[in-house]
Amino acid sequence: MKTVYFDSAATTQLIPEVIEEITNVMKTDFGNPSSTHSYGRTAKSLIEKARKSVAKHLNVTAAEIFFTSGGTEADNLAINSAVRDLGVTTIITSKIEHHAVLYVVNQLKSQYNINVEYVKLDHCGHIDYDNLESLLQANSNVLVSLMHVNNEIGNILDIKRVGQLCKANNALFHSDAVQSVGHFKMDLQDINVDFIAVSAHKFHGPKGVGFAYVKKGSGLRQLIFGGEQERGLRAGTESVHNIVGLEKALDLSYETLEDDKIYISNLKKYFIETLKQAIPNVTFNGNCSCFINSTYTLINVCLPVAPEKSPMLLFQLDLKGIACSKGSACQSGSSKGSHVLTEILSQEDMQKPSLRFSFSKFNTKEDIDYAVVSLTEIVNQ
Ligand code: PMP
Repeated sequence: MKTVYFDSAATTQLIPEVIEEITNVMKTDFGNPSSTHSYGRTAKSLIEKARKSVAKHLNVTAAEIFFTSGGTEADNLAINSAVRDLGVTTIITSKIEHHAVLYVVNQLKSQYNINVEYVKLDHCGHIDYDNLESLLQANSNVLVSLMHVNNEIGNILDIKRVGQLCKANNALFHSDAVQSVGHFKMDLQDINVDFIAVSAHKFHGPKGVGFAYVKKGSGLRQLIFGGEQERGLRAGTESVHNIVGLEKALDLSYETLEDDKIYISNLKKYFIETLKQAIPNVTFNGNCSCFINSTYTLINVCLPVAPEKSPMLLFQLDLKGIACSKGSACQSGSSKGSHVLTEILSQEDMQKPSLRFSFSKFNTKEDIDYAVVSLTEIVNQ
């Protein structure tokens, strides 16, 4: 059976060179990086090389990169410690953040009784920058946590503008950059951001590894207690092979970024055009169908289908070998609808099925033709 993968926002296919690097490290460089003998020193040097390389891509110092188990941990680390150790008493965030942010904020609210403000969103899910400024002016000891690229509807935050607003109002700024690093060039010297969270499996690297960028001198403290790894900020023996895999995947992503961006953007355009022709009443959630302030890597489609057909839709596509998702993969086991779409869609549109198709350089126009034909058949059944 033909299979096509349109779920790269959930996770990406590993690049063969990345697998090769990981395998080599697992075979030969298996020492514990904390050991002082040669095996340990070799493993340690691989980690430090990866740290330097990652730092260079983001134009920061290696000392500001801390490897973690992924994006979730990096989000948890920054937000928790900002409240526990840095005197933050108000968090300004939005209702369409990933749960790795929203649920941490909820937990901190009940544990420390902090004030939480949700910035207003427009009908496409973009934040209201004037409202953010008012919230910043009305509160003190603030952490702003706003994601760079939304994983469900693809909205891109004006991260530079938010950084400037935070700086002008003495607020700390954390951004979940899980869907942007590896897909967009980022110069952190140009953005006033204190913490970002990154995950390797979103840019063709391995799962279970990511990093936090922590601005020098921020005073952030550890979330996980134990050994002195990662200069005391993150205990636990480092996953050396995964860290090397992350390094390789990020190198390759940035090496081919401009070409990949053009290729994937064209696929997205083609998907939108062919889908509109095949299913004229289809709509696109947020403003993912235009390319302004929306990532080239995904579209979120609202289908003109009776609500009762909705539960079977993913299953029917799966039977045809098409992998896409209802929203964030992390929520697909949940019976609740998407918290992101709930914020931006009308009651009527919420009844209709919405699907996220997310792309990578491994997709082709033929994949899209197959998906559109299959989707049209299902919708017209
Ligand atoms: N933030 C966003 C925006 C994500 O898309 C994801 C992955 N679904 C995460 C955080 C969590 O990252 P990880 O899977 O590495 O824990």
